[in-house]
Amino acid sequence: MNGRLDRLRGPVPSRPHDARAIAALAANPGCARRALLDAAGVDKDRTARHLGFPAPFGQSQFAITRGNSFETVVKENGCAELLRLLRELLKLPVAEVGYQDVESVGAHLRHSHTRALVDRAAREDGPAVFYDHPLLSLRIAGHVCYLEPDVVAFQVEGRFHIVEIKSFSVIDGQAEPRKVAAAARQAAVYVLALRALLADLGHAEERVSHEVVLVCPENFANQPTAALVDVRRQLAVLRRQLTRLTRVDTLLDGLPEGLTFDLAPGQDGVPTRPAGEVAEALSRVPARYAPDCLSTCDMCMFCRDEARESGATDLLGRQVRDELGGVSSVAEALGLAEGTLEPAEGQEEIARLLRLAERLREECLR
Ligand code: SF4
Repeated sequence: MNGRLDRLRGPVPSRPHDARAIAALAANPGCARRALLDAAGVDKDRTARHLGFPAPFGQSQFAITRGNSFETVVKENGCAELLRLLRELLKLPVAEVGYQDVESVGAHLRHSHTRALVDRAAREDGPAVFYDHPLLSLRIAGHVCYLEPDVVAFQVEGRFHIVEIKSFSVIDGQAEPRKVAAAARQAAVYVLALRALLADLGHAEERVSHEVVLVCPENFANQPTAALVDVRRQLAVLRRQLTRLTRVDTLLDGLPEGLTFDLAPGQDGVPTRPAGEVAEALSRVPARYAPDCLSTCDMCMFCRDEARESGATDLLGRQVRDELGGVSSVAEALGLAEGTLEPAEGQEEIARLLRLAERLREECLR
C-alpha cells in the first residue's frame, strides 16, 4: 500500500502533519479526498496553489504578534498567572508548582526529555508541575509526526491537563463558537498524543484528562480567563479518522492504478505537471465539501469551485445537506420546491417540506 501512496504523491518528500492539519481531519471526517491526500503526505497547500486556488487563510502579522504577547502574559514568572487561573478553575489546594521549560535542553533532545519528565511524573507522587514547550509525537498513517504545541501540560496528583492558550477574546463570558471548536479540536490532538505517550510508557492513558483548559483574553483586555472544555467528542472523531487513514487501502480500491497527484518540480522549482491534469486526477477522488472547509483545509477553494459547478447541496453546509437527505443537487431541491419536478420514491416527505418552505418564502416576499 505504501508504494501506491508514494506514487500518488510523486517523487517529492512526504509532507509532515502539524497539529492544525491533524485537527482538521476531525473537522470533515467524511471526506475521502482529504483522507487520501493526508495519508499520502501530499502538500495540499502547494497543490492548491498550483491549481490556481490558494487557501484564503493564514494569520496576519498583527494576530501573530497579539497571540505571542498574550502567551507571554500567561506564562511569565513560571506561569504564575496560569497557576492563579487553574487554582480557581480546578479547585486546586496547591500553593506552589514547579515549572519545567522542556525547550531548555535544545531541539534535538526535547522529545526524549518530554518522555522522561512525563514518565517520572506518572511514576512518582511528586509536586504539581507545568511543562512548557513539550514535544509530543503521534503516528499518522504509519509516519511519526512531531507536535510542538504552544501549550503547557500541567500535572497535578499524577493527572495531566492540556492547557491551550488562544488570543481570541471572551466577551461577556462568550467566545466565537467556531474558534472555540477549532481550539478544542487542536487541543484534542495534544490530548491524544500525550495519552499515546503515557500508554507507550506503560501508564494508564486516562491519566490525561479529557477536559482541556482553554485560556483566552477577557473583554478586549489582555487579562486572561480560563474555562474547561470537554474534548471527548473531538477525541472520538480524531481516533476514527486516524484509524481510517491506516485503512486507506479501502479508499484506494476503485481508483485507477496509475493515478497520481505528482507535483515534481522542474529546474525553476515550478511543478512540471499541467494544473489541468492534477485537477482531473483529484476529481477521481470524491470530496465532501462543506463551508467549514474554508477555515480548515488548504484545498477549500478548489473543492468549493467544484461543488459550485456540480450544484451539490454540500455547498449549503452540513446541516442543510443532511436535512436534504436524498436530494443531491440545489437544482433538484429547487425543482421539488417549485413543483416542477416529481419526487422520486422516498423523496415525498422532503418534497412536501420544500414546497411548504417555498410557499412561506413566497408569502414573506409578498
Ligand atoms: S476542502 Fe476539499 S479536500 Fe478539504 S476537507 Fe473539504 S472537501 Fe475535503
